[in-house]
Amino acid sequence: MKFLNKLFGNKSENQQKGTPTNSNQLNIEKEFKKTIQILNEFKRTAYLPVVKRNANTHSTKSKIGGFPYLRNAEDWPICPNCKKNMQLFLQLNLEELPIKKDSGLIQLFYCTSTQPHCESDLEAFFPFSKGVNCRMIKIEHGSSTVVPNIDEQFGEKVIIDWKPVDDFPHFEEYAQLGIDLELDDDVYELMEQRNMGLPVENDKLFGWPYWVQSVEYPYDRNSEKQMELVFQFISEDNLPYMFGDVGIGHLTQSPDNKNELGFGWACS
Ligand SMILES: [Zn+2]
Repeated sequence: MKFLNKLFGNKSENQQKGTPTNSNQLNIEKEFKKTIQILNEFKRTAYLPVVKRNANTHSTKSKIGGFPYLRNAEDWPICPNCKKNMQLFLQLNLEELPIKKDSGLIQLFYCTSTQPHCESDLEAFFPFSKGVNCRMIKIEHGSSTVVPNIDEQFGEKVIIDWKPVDDFPHFEEYAQLGIDLELDDDVYELMEQRNMGLPVENDKLFGWPYWVQSVEYPYDRNSEKQMELVFQFISEDNLPYMFGDVGIGHLTQSPDNKNELGFGWACS
């Protein structure tokens, strides 16, 4: 396409002149269609959380922030660095998920203390950090109630629905997936304009990770199998939290062991 750009002139110049189509644009269109056709084979459905603010409650509902379901009074994870309770980032009620239903809850806790700054002290951006606790638990009985020791408790947003959206792999992952595509700048621009063939850059359940740097799936610490995306958090979407400089985090799960969960994030 670079070669064609030279032959037929610069696209932006043509746009400025108001030329509706030319050979170059037709070629870009053709290339775009081919790209989408290839990527369609890798299309997944991701689910965007639809949330509603709620008073912090120790319920078993799926939620972002707020209070977790607790099996007993000592069940709220404590950060080993600051000795305070970790913030609940996410609770998923696995019976209420739109697909892949299971029983019990997945809970993701993350220490948001800034004094000390546990995120950097414990390198919480790497999966399996001690500053993060992700676990799968059974619902046994009514929740214990606890007054948490957290500097700035996040308000609770209950997930009342999941909105399905088409999701596609990030270009960083193409090689690993055997996708033989080299995205031309013009084609990529069209993909962005039309919002087609790209990984969704929002908080979402399942689908494909939006990688900020490179492909960073963690590996099961026993079986060494690549983990799979459960939930993606972007900075300050539903969570009042910034991962570094507008980073994106991923909660992943081992295909071999449901209890092997990891959370890591990266920013550019
Ligand atoms: Zn801490």
